[in-house]
Amino acid sequence: MPELRKDPVTGRWVIISTERALRPSDYKIINEEIKKDGECPFCPGNEHMTPPEVLSYRPNGGSPNTPGWNLRVVPNKYPALNKYGEFNRQGEGIFDKMSGVGIHEVIIETPDHDLTLSTMPVKFIEDLFWAVRDRLVEIKKDKRFKYVMVFKNHGSLAGASLSHSHSQLVALPIVPKRVSEEIYGARQHFDLKERCIFCDILRQEIKDGIRKILENRDFIAIAPYAPRFPFETWILPKYHSSAFEENQVHEMENLASIMKDFLTKVTKILNNPPYNLVLHNSPFVDGIKEIYHWHIEFMPTLTKVAGFEWGTGFYINPTPPEDSARFLREAE
Ligand code: ZN
Ligand code: ZN
Repeated sequence: MPELRKDPVTGRWVIISTERALRPSDYKIINEEIKKDGECPFCPGNEHMTPPEVLSYRPNGGSPNTPGWNLRVVPNKYPALNKYGEFNRQGEGIFDKMSGVGIHEVIIETPDHDLTLSTMPVKFIEDLFWAVRDRLVEIKKDKRFKYVMVFKNHGSLAGASLSHSHSQLVALPIVPKRVSEEIYGARQHFDLKERCIFCDILRQEIKDGIRKILENRDFIAIAPYAPRFPFETWILPKYHSSAFEENQVHEMENLASIMKDFLTKVTKILNNPPYNLVLHNSPFVDGIKEIYHWHIEFMPTLTKVAGFEWGTGFYINPTPPEDSARFLREAE
């Protein structure tokens, strides 16, 4: 019998089809490589091909925009939003609009063109998280911005236009709808029970164990109860924290380590699938510290979003999370 399940945070329903539950090998992904048209703008020696860097990690020194870096953050050459200008909202009859103010940056995670997040040394993954933290701290000072969305597209089917491993961040003058929905759900739970809903979820998942994939001192990776996509995974800190930028050194080490272990398993059982990683962090607004709990969501591109999903907002997931957690747990 298929099951309708409700996500406890957002209230979003999904359809879990238990009838013909799909195994990892049932997802045949054509993971075509992005063709290399000429030079890669993210490779060392090609620093002139990107806008000037806003941050770089250079353990052996060296000047900006020259080789010798381990990680670079550069403005997106084709930004979705404009960094300059005042934010203003206007009405146009019954319609609303606002100026497209925002920051759009690219984090180049490694100088090595061929490494991926699952094959690069764990220190590089930790550097990526430090870069995210450094940019969040900096952007937060600009009062025009309310939210920073940090994400990674891996593989062209997941939206990556360059194969050289990178992540992106977009600072926005508003809190996006998906984020507001999550906060609304978390606030309702807090008002009722005076507890963080994510802390409640992770307590239960640690106890039950059926949807747990991996765990270390500070972090846990779980298949959520009502996942939209097969092998959707949430990585949460086991301690309560609403803001990613407040992470300390040992927490960053453990986050990098669980991410590396998790992606190694994923790469193995799903044959290096295209995927998206999204950081769900607290917006830069007051009154959220107790109710919200930052986390990272992982979604491999294994199914297509089609008419039913667009029409209903429901997702049909052909692999129950209890199965996907077990496949990942058992992968060596
Ligand atoms: Zn490259
Ligand atoms: Zn919490």
